[in-house]
Amino acid sequence: MAIIRASCPDCGDVELTSRDVTVRVNSSTNEGSYAFQCPECQLAVSKAAEPRIIDLLVSSGVELFVWTVPAELMEERTGPPICYDDLLQFHYQLQQETWFDQVTETAINPDLVLGSEEL
Ligand SMILES: [Zn+2]
Repeated sequence: MAIIRASCPDCGDVELTSRDVTVRVNSSTNEGSYAFQCPECQLAVSKAAEPRIIDLLVSSGVELFVWTVPAELMEERTGPPICYDDLLQFHYQLQQETWFDQVTETAINPDLVLGSEEL
């Protein structure tokens, strides 16, 4: 098993094995990082890494995780962000027996504002 030297922000250089390190690569951007838990202070450390470092770690036996950006982050957003009042109104709606029908109706006709006259 390969010995990997990495740097903890608190302890400085530490020695790890390939089992102690994980590599993550974003499949959309090819940006990568590696992470480990410091054997001295237990701090979780994550650092960005260039492709040559990723290749070196993976060839040393470090497990590679490829991840993709969740589709929700790519959705087009419209309207204002939700606020504290929206959250309170939604909480109030969930206490009504017809909350699901009201939410469905709002989704079909977004101009409807539900429950404001009941608050
Ligand atoms: Zn440390």
